[in-house]
Amino acid sequence: MKKHIFNAGPCILPQPAIESAIAAIRDFDGTGVGVLEISHRTPGWDRIMSETEQLWKELLNIPEGYKVLFLGGGASTQFCYVPFNLLGKKAAYLQTGVWAKKAAKEAKLFGEVEIVASSEDANYTYIPTGYTIPADADYFHITTNNTIYGTEIHTDLDSPVPLVADMSSDILSRPVDVSKYALIYGGAQKNVGPAGVTFVIVREDILGKVDRAIPTMIDYRTHVNNSSMFNTPPVFAIYVMHETLKWVKELGGVEAMYKMNLAKAELLYNEIDRNKMFVGTARKEDRSIMNVCFVMAEEYKDKEAAFMEFAKERGMVGIKGHRSVGGFRASIYNACPLESVQALVDCMKEFESNY
Ligand SMILES: *Cc1c(COP(=O)(O)O)cnc(C)c1O
Repeated sequence: MKKHIFNAGPCILPQPAIESAIAAIRDFDGTGVGVLEISHRTPGWDRIMSETEQLWKELLNIPEGYKVLFLGGGASTQFCYVPFNLLGKKAAYLQTGVWAKKAAKEAKLFGEVEIVASSEDANYTYIPTGYTIPADADYFHITTNNTIYGTEIHTDLDSPVPLVADMSSDILSRPVDVSKYALIYGGAQKNVGPAGVTFVIVREDILGKVDRAIPTMIDYRTHVNNSSMFNTPPVFAIYVMHETLKWVKELGGVEAMYKMNLAKAELLYNEIDRNKMFVGTARKEDRSIMNVCFVMAEEYKDKEAAFMEFAKERGMVGIKGHRSVGGFRASIYNACPLESVQALVDCMKEFESNY
């Protein structure tokens, strides 16, 4: 049976990227040596590194003065890289979920942290507004898409201080004005590749402003100056990222992805709103186009396990909601096809007709 993959991350990847990865494991770039076995100092590998950065720059229209880095450690390690490199006295954080909260927790090790607003009081079902960003903060940190709760900041915020964004789960899903951000980071395993590589888009002029000593590997300048080749980069994960970015470009780039993502999200949210058995958990205007969270309606609470089983029998994979929200979550990242969303919608309709 065909599986419809809605995993939150790692998650579905574009089939062409998977096929190229399989071929490259056997033979990288006609060298007769597989990509898992090459030295990262192989001349052909240089090309993949620079093409990967170039693809990022093209796809997101990244202006001059920015560098794209490929590091290890996942987005969670960036929670400490960011304050280590940027926090002199004080930083501001918007707390829109547990990832945002974890990021702020690390920053507290380095200085004063002001939480400008939090939606924890409502289990992060909305994005707070109406807060003030302190002008004396070294930076303002946001999480643009809250993977667990299915909320998303849909616009590029104006910030009086350098804006830092964790875009792990919505990068490349919609156009972003990179010039409004000082730093953007994320784990690749949601929209741009497999687990194992972390992307960092950094405006070079924000670096070197703190007084503390920074360990070599945690100092962004090390990786800027060595084009992410100071030490062994996550070679295979970067290769698959390269192929994933090529796929995005071939399909028409981020604008085209955005159109498809809007169509998928609309299809699924419309069904959630129409179907008497389900309700969405996020405030409507803050709904994420990447992670769609919903639960059983009050009078059908006892049918949750039955729907899970029903969906599983029809090939749905990974729709169990995060334990802190419960219910269901369908992650409909770039590589998730409209047909899979349609299959889930059909499944919800069919389930409803049984009651
Ligand atoms: C998945 C995720 C993380 C954690 O990423 P790791 O690479 O596992 O550390 C952080 N922030 C957001 C928004 C995420 O979706």
